Amino acid sequence: MSTHNLCIYNTLSRTKQPFKPIHEGHVGMYVCGPTVYGDAHLGHARPAITFDILFRYLRSLGYKVRYVRNITDVGHLEHDADSGEDKIAKKARLEELEPMEVVQHYLNTYHHDMDALNVLPPSIEPHASGHIIEQIEYIKKIIDAGYAYESKGSVYFDVEKYNRDHNYGKLSGRNIEDLISQTRALDGQDEKRNPLDFALWKKAAPEHIMHWPSPWSEGFPGWHLECSTMGTKYLGDTFDIHGGGMDLMFPHHECEIAQSVAAQGHDAVKYWMHNNMITINGKKMGKSYNNFIKLQEFFDGSHPLLQQAYSPMVIRFFILQAHYRSTVDFSNEALQAAEKALQKMLDIYQRLQTLTPADKSSVQLPDFDAKAAEAMDDDLNTPQVIAVLFEAGKIINSATDGNAQLSAEDIDKLKHLFDKYLIDIMGIRVDNNADSDNGVKAYHGAVDLLMEMRANAKANKDWTTSDLIRDRLAQLGFDVKDTKNGVEWTLR
Ligand code: ZN
Repeated sequence: MSTHNLCIYNTLSRTKQPFKPIHEGHVGMYVCGPTVYGDAHLGHARPAITFDILFRYLRSLGYKVRYVRNITDVGHLEHDADSGEDKIAKKARLEELEPMEVVQHYLNTYHHDMDALNVLPPSIEPHASGHIIEQIEYIKKIIDAGYAYESKGSVYFDVEKYNRDHNYGKLSGRNIEDLISQTRALDGQDEKRNPLDFALWKKAAPEHIMHWPSPWSEGFPGWHLECSTMGTKYLGDTFDIHGGGMDLMFPHHECEIAQSVAAQGHDAVKYWMHNNMITINGKKMGKSYNNFIKLQEFFDGSHPLLQQAYSPMVIRFFILQAHYRSTVDFSNEALQAAEKALQKMLDIYQRLQTLTPADKSSVQLPDFDAKAAEAMDDDLNTPQVIAVLFEAGKIINSATDGNAQLSAEDIDKLKHLFDKYLIDIMGIRVDNNADSDNGVKAYHGAVDLLMEMRANAKANKDWTTSDLIRDRLAQLGFDVKDTKNGVEWTLR
């Protein structure tokens, strides 16, 4: 294993700490994965890419990494309300599909989008629905330890009691008195002793279609529980890294900590890591802002806020141009700048492949590899790595322009630098980028042209032609819809 000084920011200690794995040479890493009840959107890209970089870097340092990223496919309760119908069940009822059919459909599109972004698959991708028995056993441990109670067939975590013995809120820095004053008072009808208590098991209403037997009722587990259960099942009672988006810090990760301390008597996680959020044109992303952009819409440019299509590598490069703990604001201008910068980087890479070695170098090559390693070791400073590569690029460009000479040894060093940091660690695909970009643009333009021809045919009351275009596109897998704003098309 190579020597290194990797330091990562631990949200729990609020400091950058040297990374020391619990078991020499091995790293256990858990990241909260997607809830599969809709297409993957921009919000999914940042945690996936952030922890993909960490996964790739740890592997390049020689660690054997077990990376677990869960699939939330049952009982996804609202972040701030642990009641209400499971979103997947609701969607299934509306579309008259099997719940697992909905899950599989969105999981397939998620995987497809992650592949496009060159995010490596995790080592294990456990489904919450496949771990109901383990979750029931976990609840029993918490009840036995005295930190949970049954109420009308549901089981709740006793936050106040837990806080008397431990510290609820230590990750997010919240304190329980403030939290209590912020929550509504109990109305007497509530099953909970305290509004802060969260569900470990929820009794299913009769119309609820995803439920399992348990000692307490036919029901389903609370959302926070799956991560505590599957994390320890696959990584052990204590493991190295738990990651996720900053929006999950409270209450999700706070509840995970409380559950594992209650069940095991100690914390499960050594380093907590959180990526910051994405804004779009300075605004939070959300359905109500109409800026909830699906990844597929970026790739084909079909969202009204987008001036053009942006390839998956532009999205990836743009995210890596910011440190994972700072916010990233998406705008057409910023993405177009990222597209140019990526193109410049790929040009440098191509030029590097064409260099002819000289007998000796006319320039002294700085130790770029050490500089890039130092940047990665500093809490995964990818913008700094990109800066180092551009610095190396200046020398490569002057060599291909005939203004400098490089020896075979120096050319090899530079090739190694780009292969290691640009391709292996930052995960940038260098082949066929331009081709696939142009392909997307051409495909989009061709379908738009057919739409225009169909509109003309309709205006001329030429129904045969307009129906022919619609039907043939449908056969090819396109959905064409007439809306009051014109024609909308999507590829199923
Ligand atoms: Zn989680």
